[in-house]
Amino acid sequence: MSKKILAALLLSLATAPALAADAQTRARALHERFPVLDTHLDTPANLARPGWNILDHHHYDEDGTQVDYPRMVEGGLDGGFWVIYTAQGPRTALGNRQARDFGLQRLAQIREMVAANPDKFELATTPEDAARIKAAGKRSVYISIENAYPLSADPSLLTAYYRLGVRMLGLVHTSNNDFADSSTDPKGPEWNGLSPKGRELVAQANRLGIVLDQSHASDAVFDQLIELSRAPIILSHTASHDLNAHPRNLDDARIRKLAAKGGVIQVNSLSGYLIPTNRSPEYSAELRALFAGYGGRQGLKPEQYKEVMAKRRALDAKYGIRQATFDDYMKHILHILDVAGPDHVGLGADWDGGGGVAGLEDVSQLPRITEALLQAGYSEQQIANIWGGNLLRLLKQVQDLADPAALAEL
Ligand SMILES: [Zn+2]
Repeated sequence: MSKKILAALLLSLATAPALAADAQTRARALHERFPVLDTHLDTPANLARPGWNILDHHHYDEDGTQVDYPRMVEGGLDGGFWVIYTAQGPRTALGNRQARDFGLQRLAQIREMVAANPDKFELATTPEDAARIKAAGKRSVYISIENAYPLSADPSLLTAYYRLGVRMLGLVHTSNNDFADSSTDPKGPEWNGLSPKGRELVAQANRLGIVLDQSHASDAVFDQLIELSRAPIILSHTASHDLNAHPRNLDDARIRKLAAKGGVIQVNSLSGYLIPTNRSPEYSAELRALFAGYGGRQGLKPEQYKEVMAKRRALDAKYGIRQATFDDYMKHILHILDVAGPDHVGLGADWDGGGGVAGLEDVSQLPRITEALLQAGYSEQQIANIWGGNLLRLLKQVQDLADPAALAEL
């Protein structure tokens, strides 16, 4: 090797890390310029954990959480939709009443988090709020519902939720309910899409200017929402079916239909939706038994967390379970961007709800996505739209199409 080549080689070795650091710095700096929002933050479920405080810096390895105020600041996440998630339970009068109470309690916890930290968080309800709250140095708290089960006993409660700040509604979770079919109910479709009660709820959401969220619902629900909804719809946390044929994902033909109607798909990072993970019913049963032995995930004490995770890793190894990587997640994002176009895609990574991949374990690492989008050739404006502009445009369209008479009655 000549001295000249050797010198060039040594120089390139020395500058490569510097260039990488530059790209990271540039990506992180972009997060200061526009609202960076995620449409599916399951973090409110942690607000009820004993001793857990949103203002403390937690570590994913230690307690499994992915979002708190210090990590939002670190990763340049300005907020997004904080979710009132209710697990589907019995569809009985008692079950419906318990779900009603649970939903209202979770809503109160989200509002209490904002009220207790007025210098750090602010309730957001309009598209304009995101930039204003960011300029004030605070984080946006938009509120959404995942699973309309709490509305089963009394769908007119949607008006109360609206008045208390809810601006997005997902009809169903992993099993069918009174409003719609789920994409993953082992029993298959019950309504062949939306139920009559579900159709009424869609109309009411349109009247109030609440964004309809199709994530978790069946393809038939997607087709019916596209026809029925007066306003464009969102998929708050959904990945690509053409890359991984999981029923929870959306196929390219439907992604194109969504975009043609002005809708937006926010890409999910949950490992089991991104790649075939090799989960079997036997594995799932053992995993459930593991957590049940500790009184369920929510009952887990911080000091038990490491022990449980070690057992879980052993279980994953025994069954050969695969874990998606950052590259797997970027493949879904870039594919959906190709199919929908950059004006119809955003991010809803399912933080604190099962999302996160190897190399993107919590929100402090979000600039990695921005860096990858820059490398893929997306412009800063396009990236601003992906991180929030598209969502805020959709929110404006939905709110502009609300019925002024319905809002005047509130
Ligand atoms: Zn979900």
